[in-house]
Amino acid sequence: MNSEKISVVIPCFNEERNIASNIRKIFSYLEINFENFEIIAVNDGSTDKTIEELKNLQNEIPLTIIDNFENEGKGKVVRDGILKSNGEIVMFLDADLAIPVEELEKFLVEIRNGYDLVIASRLVPGGKVIQKVLWYRIIMEKAFRVIRTIIINNYKVKDTQCGFKVFKREAAMKIFPLITIKRFAFDSEIIFLAGKYKLKTKELPITLQNPIRSHIRIFRDPFNMLCDLFKIRINDAKLKYRIRK
Ligand code: UDP
Ligand code: MG
Repeated sequence: MNSEKISVVIPCFNEERNIASNIRKIFSYLEINFENFEIIAVNDGSTDKTIEELKNLQNEIPLTIIDNFENEGKGKVVRDGILKSNGEIVMFLDADLAIPVEELEKFLVEIRNGYDLVIASRLVPGGKVIQKVLWYRIIMEKAFRVIRTIIINNYKVKDTQCGFKVFKREAAMKIFPLITIKRFAFDSEIIFLAGKYKLKTKELPITLQNPIRSHIRIFRDPFNMLCDLFKIRINDAKLKYRIRK
């Protein structure tokens, strides 16, 4: 049994199909493994019945809901959830449980070993992807990785994009108030800030089983992500990443 309180933030955009059963799985895992925890689901302006599903679930399990009325992006809602959390350990994971919550145990070991943030990775030895990926998605991801490494120069971290990241509270509270990227490139901003503030970062191999369904929009998102990478550099040049006291 873990004695530290953990906060689990789940960004939710049009997840009506599986959100209730997936949060039940997360709850069952946390209930067995943690003395103290909170689950924060952040609805990102879903146009399906996600919010109704979340509200119904509140009758069954303790769940904090944040409702972002418009769809603004995963980065925006993860930030909202994390800034509302109060655990000693803080994490976010994708609503589709592409990386199962049971992986968490080994992440906690590294947090206790002294790492400030421990992130899931497909690209360190032992990392695996079980999925029929669409060919253009593979190309997009490879290209993004190369460009990201060049633009933000964080070659030490191999895979920034997995939706499963665990933080010590102090580290999360340094990083998340500074997050400006609202959509999918916010993970790169996290890693950039972790590098800038010399936070100890560890990548752990996971097995990722992504459903074929994704909210990444094939034409718009790669372009947005590229612009957002430049935005990270520009923000830094404009001293927007200074830690405010
Ligand atoms: N998501 C979100 N806002 C969006 C798009 C996605 O909050 O505008 C959430 C989504 O509900 C999921 C996570 O971000 O919990 C990752 O999205 P998805 O699984 O579609 O991305 P992929 O796994 O394909 O990278
Ligand atoms: Mg997914």
